Amino acid sequence: MMTIKTTNLGFPRLGRKREWKKAIEGYWNKNINKEALDKQLEVLHRDNLKLQSSYNLDSVPVGDFSLYDNLLDTALLFNIIPERFQGREIDDDLLFDIARGNKEHVASALIKWFNTNYHYIVPEWDNVVPKLNHNTLLERYRFALSLGINAHPVIVGPITFVALSKGGTSSFEEKVRQLIPLYTEVFHSLIQEGAELIQVDEPILVTDQAEVLKDITHEVYEAFNDAKVADKLIIQTYFEAADVKFLNGLPVKGLGLDFVHDRGNNLKQILAGDLSGDKTLFAGVIDGRNVWAADVALKQQLIEKLSEHVEDLYINPSSSLLLVPVSLEDETLDEQIKDGLSFATEKLGELEALKNLFNNNNATQFNKLKSKYETFQNQSFKNLEYNYNIPDQRSSTFEVRKVLQQQRWNLPDLPTTTIGSFPQSKEVRQYRADWKNHRITDEVYKQFLKDEIKRWIDIQEEIGLDVLVHGEFERNDMVEFFGEKLQGFLVTKYGWVQSYGSRAVKPPIIYGDVKWTHPLTIDETVYAQGLTNKPVKGMLTGPVTILNWSFERVDIPREVVQNQIALAINEEVLALEKAGIKIIQVDEPALREGLPLRSEFHKDYLDKAVHSFKLATSSVADDTQIHTHMCYSQFGQIIHAIYDLDADVISIETSRSHGDLIQDFEDINYNLGIGLGVYDIHSPRIPTEAEVTNAIERALKQIDRSLFWVNPDCGLKTRKEEEVKEALKVLVTSTQKIRNQ
Ligand code: GLN
Ligand code: ZN
Repeated sequence: MMTIKTTNLGFPRLGRKREWKKAIEGYWNKNINKEALDKQLEVLHRDNLKLQSSYNLDSVPVGDFSLYDNLLDTALLFNIIPERFQGREIDDDLLFDIARGNKEHVASALIKWFNTNYHYIVPEWDNVVPKLNHNTLLERYRFALSLGINAHPVIVGPITFVALSKGGTSSFEEKVRQLIPLYTEVFHSLIQEGAELIQVDEPILVTDQAEVLKDITHEVYEAFNDAKVADKLIIQTYFEAADVKFLNGLPVKGLGLDFVHDRGNNLKQILAGDLSGDKTLFAGVIDGRNVWAADVALKQQLIEKLSEHVEDLYINPSSSLLLVPVSLEDETLDEQIKDGLSFATEKLGELEALKNLFNNNNATQFNKLKSKYETFQNQSFKNLEYNYNIPDQRSSTFEVRKVLQQQRWNLPDLPTTTIGSFPQSKEVRQYRADWKNHRITDEVYKQFLKDEIKRWIDIQEEIGLDVLVHGEFERNDMVEFFGEKLQGFLVTKYGWVQSYGSRAVKPPIIYGDVKWTHPLTIDETVYAQGLTNKPVKGMLTGPVTILNWSFERVDIPREVVQNQIALAINEEVLALEKAGIKIIQVDEPALREGLPLRSEFHKDYLDKAVHSFKLATSSVADDTQIHTHMCYSQFGQIIHAIYDLDADVISIETSRSHGDLIQDFEDINYNLGIGLGVYDIHSPRIPTEAEVTNAIERALKQIDRSLFWVNPDCGLKTRKEEEVKEALKVLVTSTQKIRNQ
């Protein structure tokens, strides 16, 4: 039996207690200076490297650590700086401004990284002069070496980098060609420093696009070969199967393949002999995107099979561990469930156990993990039930509903509303934490929520919004909140995962059958409605999003879980309606994100997603208005499914993707209510009246006025109160002016 090696593709930068987030936000808020920030991040980076190295990895990734996002790092490295930010010194402040926007300029677009809830910053090519800036990757690599750590640099590859960028007049191929010498120089510098392996992430090669990118991919890696750097490169893919035969034909040292999310197709190709024996294989055998402990016995078999086909075999997580929480160690969970779980750190332990089994004939760790896994499997948290006989179709068409809804509310032309959340101020978060930790009584907490809701109902009335919201002050997060209240979910204490920039979410873990047992949102919503004559919109998260932003069991069909959640949300929708809340928003921001990377799997996914949304929302009366909301994705491919949701109104983010979206809606003649976000809520910048007016007028050229709503891009929870008030005033005033024209 051969020996195997272990490696990793990336580690969460967040820190066990979100130290990374705290340091960076501390700097943004001017609580610490740059020197202190650098110091704190260096400690974190060092700890990350040392922790990974303590699991005896043969190579630890370096270059995955970042101040914001790896794609943005790469853009800065190669001087792909948005035109409006050009001319400044290339430093961390510039990086933050591009990512977040500043007083003068809007931020770059933020898009979900493949089918995950991680968001990257979209590089912009307009009028750029690619060149190599300060070599931050080399610097990070040297840092690892200085700690005595066996490391390999990680960088997003040229094909993926260009595929995920926008702007510029040059063609895809021209852009890639401009980058070749720059990548070559970086590779050279790393090799000179001693790098034996360089992980070049090319996940774009598992998507539909891969086919048309074959020629240029070939050209690029041949060029790296001519420059004598290719023999150190591992082309790393993940999230789906790759075309192994094609990749095998490239003159590189090896390939990284995902054996967890490949639907069996990578393995099939390996068994068919598509990978030549002299290539190094980075085999993603441990699930890098989910929190369940590995079935190590099954992994053992997989590794045995693989080892018959390659000589140089590394085993590693299927993708960067950025997508899972850091460690189970701080969690106080039911031991029975804890046995079944494995976060980033524990996954490294799984790799170590497998390595010791193969290389040292030492099965101690392996047997321990095996028996834990079996214990968990023997519990019965599930019976896979989801009987239902509720409609998945509204009883009347939109045309009929629209008239009844308009009669009921008599809303003005171009109604204004928000997406749901208002600022989660320090005070709000403090009260919630105090209440959770039993430092204040239920009464005190409830009273605080009431006061805050009332304050914001008054603010909304004063600003002149038409459809109000209660503000979501009782919610930590739009999925975790439901996870805490629905049966079948568990919520961790420190299970944070980076979503974008310094934002982290704590996905709940679905460990058993999902059920609605009591109302989730009635108290706050009904209280808010009692304070105003304007309609208050109920606010729920939809089944597709709850599932996508949770860690679901991998041994239960997704659609079963999804429909169970849909039934639970349906109960809540009906409870709200019964309590007099007749405008109800069911958010589905993750609908696009869950879309499989290969189009052959789209229909199945979308049919099931639409079905579950409709199960959740179709039982209401005709004059109850169902809203939905989506954001930060490329909607083009799912536009028909969005239409099929049959929501009376959709509010959708557009300003951050700079308005590219309207065309998609026009193309399919979308004729349901629609609110296109008219200001970017991720930027502290207040939009001007001209900007908002422009956005509305631009949209009205293409969208029927009687269907159009005016709203921000997304929830306002991350903004400061003053910013929100100012921005919403601008939004309402601009709308009123257009109404009066
Ligand atoms: N209703 C949610 C909010 O306003 C929606 C958040 C989201 O789209 N991600 O916060
Ligand atoms: Zn949103």
